[in-house]
Amino acid sequence: MFTQSLADLQESCLLRKLHRTESAQDAEVTIKGKAVILFSSNNYLGLANHPKLKEAAITAIRKYGFGSGASRLLSGTMSLHEQLETRLAHFAKTDAALAFNSGYHANLGLIQTLTQELSPHGLVLADRACHASLIDAIRITKSRFKVYQHQNTKQLKQLLATHTESEKTSSLVITEGIFSMDGDITPLPKLLTCIEQSSSTLLVDDAHGIGVMGATGRGTIEHFNLEAKIPIRTGTLGKALGCVGAFVAGPHDLIQILINRARSFIYTTAPPPAFAAAALAALTILEAEPERREQLWRNQHYMLSNLKSLGYNTMNTESPILPVLIGDPSRTIQFSQQLYERGIYAPAIRPPTVPRGTSRLRISMMATHQQAQLDYALDTFRDVGRSLGIIT
Ligand SMILES: *Cc1c(COP(=O)(O)O)cnc(C)c1O
Repeated sequence: MFTQSLADLQESCLLRKLHRTESAQDAEVTIKGKAVILFSSNNYLGLANHPKLKEAAITAIRKYGFGSGASRLLSGTMSLHEQLETRLAHFAKTDAALAFNSGYHANLGLIQTLTQELSPHGLVLADRACHASLIDAIRITKSRFKVYQHQNTKQLKQLLATHTESEKTSSLVITEGIFSMDGDITPLPKLLTCIEQSSSTLLVDDAHGIGVMGATGRGTIEHFNLEAKIPIRTGTLGKALGCVGAFVAGPHDLIQILINRARSFIYTTAPPPAFAAAALAALTILEAEPERREQLWRNQHYMLSNLKSLGYNTMNTESPILPVLIGDPSRTIQFSQQLYERGIYAPAIRPPTVPRGTSRLRISMMATHQQAQLDYALDTFRDVGRSLGIIT
């Protein structure tokens, strides 16, 4: 029935497949019996397999069982959920926070609610490179929606000015803290100036910034010291924090309205209490072991500077996400496959995840990568890149 679609995907080198990992999430994993060094995980700080996080989850399961049994508004809100939300608000330096089953759910619920409540006739503007969960969320609101070119605050400013003049309604502007496929940091201070001039609302999805950016790992907003000025954000617990689930942090009333309106919060089973226990442990580790973040950044600098010296185009990354631009999907896959044969897992990222002509390898750095693993990876990148004629 789907043979033609699948054949078309195969033909254009866009067919995707699942890769089964058979070991715990670490810097080296076993994929279908083969040991590979992992460069594709968002487990930036190595917390996914941290003993304290595992212990916290096991203890919670012993005490509370596994399932939550119901949605949050029925009987699924357990004391651990509340403890986590209090802790997240403290972490984000906001009045309140609300946990969601995933970042995808958080974005759906938040954007649906914000457009309904703030600007039912307003315009939604998003950076062109925004994550699919943000784009899907905007689409289901049926709001008027425009994208601006990636990181183009000048264009954003123009769009906001034209809109505010003609319609006198405020807009919602959506960006990521760290862009998930490019690795670049959003110039939040500049964006904030645009927003303030047009009295619009800014939403920052900091999925890749939480745990990674800022002096204490509170994210991109901390990186720019803008915590008092950017009141609304989403963050995931599934990436640097090594858990699953996500949160919205913001003013008290926003959180209350989300509890009442956000469909992706209301109409789903509450995440298990052990998830909250693990996330609480992750937040504690984040505070107690800053050396993890320091090591992550040392690894990032080492890998990035050496990839650049080899002659690779790493775009404008300033984060542990290192894109290696190739362009064409078939060469990108070839590159990724040859790395894989040599024990390096760095996935090929192709359209529709990234724009046409910008297929790339995407290397994710972790604090737990060992120096020898980085050196082996760089040697392999040099050899494979030369043999494919990507570098000289
Ligand atoms: C990963 C990601 C999400 C989704 O978060 P999950 O918790 O994995 O569902 C949302 N937004 C951005 C920018 C992401 O990178």
